[in-house]
Amino acid sequence: MRPADALDRIVYLLDRALAESQKVRAFARARDVVDEVGDDEVERLHAHSDLTDLPGIGPTTARVIAEALDGGVPSYLAELEATTAIAPEDGAELRGVLRGDCHTHSTWSDGGASIEKMARTAMALGHEYMVLTDHSPRLTIAHGLSADRLRRQIDEIDALNDRLAPFRILTGIEVDILVDGSLDQREDLLARLDVVVASVHSKLRMERQEMTRRMVAAVASPHVDVLGHCTGRKVVGRGRPPSIFDAEIVFAACAQFDTALEINCRPERQDPPDELVDLAIDWGLRFAIDTDAHAPGQMEWLAYGCDKAARHDIPPGQIVNTMAADDLVAWAATHDG
Ligand SMILES: [Zn+2]
Ligand SMILES: [Zn+2]
Repeated sequence: MRPADALDRIVYLLDRALAESQKVRAFARARDVVDEVGDDEVERLHAHSDLTDLPGIGPTTARVIAEALDGGVPSYLAELEATTAIAPEDGAELRGVLRGDCHTHSTWSDGGASIEKMARTAMALGHEYMVLTDHSPRLTIAHGLSADRLRRQIDEIDALNDRLAPFRILTGIEVDILVDGSLDQREDLLARLDVVVASVHSKLRMERQEMTRRMVAAVASPHVDVLGHCTGRKVVGRGRPPSIFDAEIVFAACAQFDTALEINCRPERQDPPDELVDLAIDWGLRFAIDTDAHAPGQMEWLAYGCDKAARHDIPPGQIVNTMAADDLVAWAATHDG
């Protein structure tokens, strides 16, 4: 096994397990170093037991490289393969009919991998498409895309699609819902994108009525197709309480404007909470089961959302990513009038 491939797979598996970013970065750096130095030099250093002379290579990464060069599967990698495996349970059947993922990030904003790497992972997982939804300009900590960069991204996607066909990368954005309910990107660009996910990322503690008005305004926008992680809660670590809003009113707006509600698969989000999923079902809403993946390994998290949807008996026909790419794009276009 090539050391760079072993390290790359470890990065994938650590991301799949939502490992600490520091740890992921250490292995990603080791992969890049090994890639840069080249196989011959790495072999030579291994023969002299000098691998740790390389910058960024410590005892653990050195052992992975050595075991890979000696011809086996490195034990660290083998253990991760076994301990981080994800398999859908109740949602296995549903997982089988999902055709893509409507919420993914790349290094263009705060993701950890290129668009091409994300797309190739989606292909390996059997997806027919993924919607690339990098952040919008005002989310500066996440390197949100200016109008100009978004236009360039669309060009890059066009070029990639020529090479990756029949797989399709659909153009999209995770657009910030600003405090007044307006959207953080130019109208003409939002209209041009295949799928628009809109999410609240700031002022999550807004007073109930204001937050309700803010979300309804976004949901009612002709550009918005999916309402992302609607409560903003985090359920892992220090956590974050859900935003307070009148879900009856927001979901009534989703029903009125045929905006899908996202089931966000991220383990630390698990958004919306169960009671809101039930309420959304009562309103007859469509759902999008989205990984919100910021790294290739996280694209496997669809299984979590499928389990949740299955537990709530959501019919597959209500889930937008069971649609073929053309149908999904056509549905989204109905919102743009
Ligand atoms: Zn988000
Ligand atoms: Zn996101």
